Amino acid sequence: MKELTQWLQEAIQGRARRDYLDRQLKIQFPPAYEQIDLDVLRRRILGVGLGGNGCHAAVGLARMGFAHLDFIDFDRVEPHNLTRQLLYSVHDVGESKAAAAERSLQFHSLGSEIVVHPFNVLHEREATVALIAQADFVFVLVDQPAAVFFCLSACRYFGKPAVIAGTDCVTGLHTRVFFQTPEGPGCAFCNYWGRVTPADWATYYRYPSVPERERVDLSVVQSFDQQVYLHGPSTYITAATGSHLALSVMLRYFTGGQTSNLVIDFNLYSYFLEVVESTPNLKCPLCATG
Ligand SMILES: [Zn+2]
Repeated sequence: MKELTQWLQEAIQGRARRDYLDRQLKIQFPPAYEQIDLDVLRRRILGVGLGGNGCHAAVGLARMGFAHLDFIDFDRVEPHNLTRQLLYSVHDVGESKAAAAERSLQFHSLGSEIVVHPFNVLHEREATVALIAQADFVFVLVDQPAAVFFCLSACRYFGKPAVIAGTDCVTGLHTRVFFQTPEGPGCAFCNYWGRVTPADWATYYRYPSVPERERVDLSVVQSFDQQVYLHGPSTYITAATGSHLALSVMLRYFTGGQTSNLVIDFNLYSYFLEVVESTPNLKCPLCATG
């Protein structure tokens, strides 16, 4: 009897889920591509960072009905987050983003299993890597280059597709999205990063760790981190647009249409749009020895 009750409950939940997703499941892709069906939606997605882009991506993933969602963020809600980070309200200022986001995401959930992990990816490397290893797709939506580099190198190590998206920190009106295929050649960092990166910095943040990591000059690492610390302007429209472009890239990957590394540039003010397949950068610190 217990089994029958459970079966009935699951059948009712399954029916409800199909009703929620009815219009989305009618989307037609070219015949050679996979459909968005319930199998696609069973994939496990990881979102690293619940800032401007991360909040919008998280709402999108929950509303699209992905069954298993993990997110990571260690920050606290600050007043200047609220113009674009739509999982938080004025009542959440000072609170952990993870707690506030988990609460908000339950409101948006159509039955997804959602867990928000409250830690810093660079302080909890093994826990981060464990989540990357079990994910089917990874959104790396954090500002700081060290965290981006670490996550992308782990994605490449475990053969996981990844997308990064961010707002141009000079104008705050330009969004840029990079897609990284599960395997090389080339990676998202090839085009993300134009600076000459100190070898010690790459050695310190690369996954997996190498014995040379114990011998890096930490003053070089810290000095470079301070130079590239991002705290520029940002707007609701760039956060919303960048994250939605990133969701589109994920969908295109899952339905078989995106098989190469990609860069999308979009300026919200001039409407400039460029979409190119990225080419491997010979100076890329991730590709150099990754
Ligand atoms: Zn690269």
